[in-house]
Amino acid sequence: MDTATAPLSFHVLAKPTGAICNLDCKYCFFLSKAELYPGSELRMTDAVLEWYIRRQVEAQQGPEVTIAWQGGEPTLAGLDFYRRSVELVEKHRRPGQTVRYTIQTNGTLLDDDWCAFFRAHNFLVGLSIDGPRSLHDAYRVDKGGKPTFDRVIRGWGFLQEHEVDVNILCTVHAANAESPREVYRFFRDELGARFIQFIPIVERVNADGGTRFQEGSTVTDRSVTAAQWGRFLVAIFDEWVRRDVGTVFVQMFDAALASWVGAPPAVCIFAETCGDAVALMHTGDIYSCDHFVEPKYLLGNLTEAPLGEMVGSARQRAFGAAKQDTLPRYCRECPVRFACHGECPKNRFILTPDGEPGLNYLCAGYKAFFTHIDRPMRIMADLLRRGRYADAVTQILPAEEARFVAAASRAGRNDLCPCGSGQKAKRCHGRANT
Ligand code: SF4
Ligand code: SF4
Repeated sequence: MDTATAPLSFHVLAKPTGAICNLDCKYCFFLSKAELYPGSELRMTDAVLEWYIRRQVEAQQGPEVTIAWQGGEPTLAGLDFYRRSVELVEKHRRPGQTVRYTIQTNGTLLDDDWCAFFRAHNFLVGLSIDGPRSLHDAYRVDKGGKPTFDRVIRGWGFLQEHEVDVNILCTVHAANAESPREVYRFFRDELGARFIQFIPIVERVNADGGTRFQEGSTVTDRSVTAAQWGRFLVAIFDEWVRRDVGTVFVQMFDAALASWVGAPPAVCIFAETCGDAVALMHTGDIYSCDHFVEPKYLLGNLTEAPLGEMVGSARQRAFGAAKQDTLPRYCRECPVRFACHGECPKNRFILTPDGEPGLNYLCAGYKAFFTHIDRPMRIMADLLRRGRYADAVTQILPAEEARFVAAASRAGRNDLCPCGSGQKAKRCHGRANT
């Protein structure tokens, strides 16, 4: 095994049922991973579960440890599996160590028993919904191709009844990308959701026409385009920043604010390097990342080596450093690099304008988004630095905009534009009035 230099804490995304799921979402990148384990029952045994809990608890040198479950569909493992996991955590955790539980689910199998259990153990539940009925059902269908919206909303109802903490996970794709406000308002106003996460669907088409590997430079028709992704984020941000800061938490916006404040972002895609979030399959196999569960990224098996050794291995550190080392010059010179860092390497498969490979497929969208939010982000970052709440931006920004509109309407066509661009008003914001 390579020299171990494990980070103080790292994340393990565990898949107790491997790639199996009761649904057949058309864009799912994980169902095909079952092919890595031909003949396997795709179910984590009690022995592997105990290895995982023990290894994870002993590997985390900080005061907190997170046990994070995902799939496939992790509820297919059955509630007793999770009851046992909590018992094992109690058996192995160090005194004073805080344990947090998370689970990402499609919500269709949830009932009172599940949700009472989640509440009792403070699980943070990630619930996959892609927006209102027609947008959700476009791709999120069951094995028979039937829509799933009603079953997911039923699960949401159980979660609400039991007051479980829920984070809505919405993937953004060809079907819902042009409806940002409809999607956001559905979550905020109809569901009453307070924690929302948006994830772009970028499906690369492999040489054999499939989408199993992070290979190929074209994408499926279901994928969101870079321009759509940028517009989607901008539209929701503009509504959020004028009325919902402090009451609705959008992971992407929180991560951006961290960058403007100078703090490390809470999501790996905007970090400078990767490598601190590995994936655990039902067999105990550990892969470099959830998005790279492919034979060439297999680090080992946790029944044979400590987690810290695998995460700290030279191979995994090189995987993580590659995110920074392979950044094209176009990104290195980008004014919003501090917030973007080239996003996830899995999406870096297009050429820069000067022909260098490795630019992110979503670049144009991110550039538009991060540029657009600069002023409000500066306002919020300044508020936080002065010990105030960021939600004051909901008053400051409209007042600032009203002052600008008034100044712009007073400016003559040949005066300098009040936006500070240095251009004449007639060529800048005055254009709207000409
Ligand atoms: S490869 Fe992408 S998803 Fe994986 S750790 Fe890196 S940024 Fe995160
Ligand atoms: S916005 Fe584009 S150029 Fe800038 S860092 Fe991100 S991917 Fe690179």
